[in-house]
Amino acid sequence: MVIVGAGECGGRAALALRDLGYEGPVTLVGDEPHLPYERPPLSKEAMASETPEIRAITSDELLAEKSIRHLRSVRAAGIDRTAHVVRLSDGASLSYDKLLLATGSTPRKLPMPGLGSRCVYLRTFADALAIRAHLRAGSRIAIVGGGFIGLELAASARKLGASVTVIEAQPRILMRGVPVEIAGIVHDAHEAEGVKILAGQGITAIADDSAEVRVTLADGKDIVADLSVIGIGAVPVTTLAAEAGLTIDNGIAVDAELRTSDPDVFAAGDCCSFPLAVYGGRRVRLEAWRNAQEQGALAARNMLGAGEAHAAVPWFWSDQYGLSLQIAGLSDEGRGIVRRDLGEGAFILFHLAEDGRLVAASGIGPGNTVARDIRLAEMLIGKRAKPAPEALGSPDVKLKALLAA
Ligand code: FAD
Ligand code: NAP
Repeated sequence: MVIVGAGECGGRAALALRDLGYEGPVTLVGDEPHLPYERPPLSKEAMASETPEIRAITSDELLAEKSIRHLRSVRAAGIDRTAHVVRLSDGASLSYDKLLLATGSTPRKLPMPGLGSRCVYLRTFADALAIRAHLRAGSRIAIVGGGFIGLELAASARKLGASVTVIEAQPRILMRGVPVEIAGIVHDAHEAEGVKILAGQGITAIADDSAEVRVTLADGKDIVADLSVIGIGAVPVTTLAAEAGLTIDNGIAVDAELRTSDPDVFAAGDCCSFPLAVYGGRRVRLEAWRNAQEQGALAARNMLGAGEAHAAVPWFWSDQYGLSLQIAGLSDEGRGIVRRDLGEGAFILFHLAEDGRLVAASGIGPGNTVARDIRLAEMLIGKRAKPAPEALGSPDVKLKALLAA
């Protein structure tokens, strides 16, 4: 078993193979110098900490105990599918019976000239350390992109006293996938904490020198900063798969069992698109932590012949200041919205399809206030339930009761 990509998904898949009782050789190939680690803290706790630390998902001892061979700082450079061999950047090669591609995603690059060392992206621990070095009282940070990276980083930068401007090309932040009411609350929280949000503002130029970076907005104004962090989305890492002749369709295309167009090659996590059963087989690609974990484990089962179809409901969260936002399902499938207030300012928006089916739930509130109800909503979505809108909207009706019904 060979796994390319030692991130959340690849790391979990390697451990799962052993937990499932597989006793043959398992090799995990990663181009980063670290053990597989968690990325979510990179924009949150680790970024706001005085001494950022990596949160590994396993240890050298555990890998040794489980006889998982982990090759660090080595890139898979090519796949010979006929010979069942992966060629590595250090000149070595690995033969495989089953191969898992868990190559993740990488920041979408701003297609502009003039980007020097003061214009950076956030994906790896090394990126996080480089950004963290600029966050201190009075430093000026210009963030391009009002998505999750940009906003979580803005919150962390403010905690450290930096002065932050977020530039978003769309009319509002979190335009895609987050309902306007919830985005509004996030927006207000940032402004209350002193972040300047410039929405509806494209940028026309960005240039840096050894002293500062200058971001020119579409309206002609300049934002001058010590560092610009660009968070304008992520693209799946597909070059290896494409060069090997595997089908690509918004990521490495896999079937419900996470098998690519080659039956001996699987793909999972951020890098793949797959048919989502709960939504009638709609092909999606998810960039979310829990999906990477679940798909890593599912790929491991199917590499061992389980023949199990993906059945999970998408879910992700974002923490900013004391607020936690959670979304289960795909909100763009919804046509109508019902709101349930949970107290302490927390609420959930239930997204209903035309036929009344619950297709998503988006919640926001302090701390963990929405977690339990979002979990129950996720189960209702998984059951393809059509709860009465009045019941969903009434805090007196327990979601657990709707689930039992
Ligand atoms: P990755 O974690 O990207 O791992 C892929 C690995 O493969 C990388 O190490 C890459 O370098 C390596 N690789 C690629 N090509 C090769 C090759 N040819 N050879 C060898 N190695 C290769 N999600 C949430 O749900 N909630 C959050 O709050 C959240 N916060 C996040 C914060 C940040 C800063 C970031 C960057 C992401 C966050 N995410 C969050 C998203 C989540 O971390 C990802 O969905 C998850 O990491 C995807 O796991 P993956 O294993 O598919 O890909
Ligand atoms: P994102 O959430 O897709 O947000 C990118 C934002 O930048 C979008 O609002 C996008 O608008 C905007 N944008 C695009 N081009 C722009 C431009 N030229 N100028 C200004 N704004 C522009 O992606 P991200 O925040 O960069 O995150 C990258 C990856 O990290 C993703 O995989 C994400 O899932 C992951 N991540 C997740 C979390 C979480 O789930 N909590 C936290 C951090 C990171 P359009 O919609 O118009 O493209």
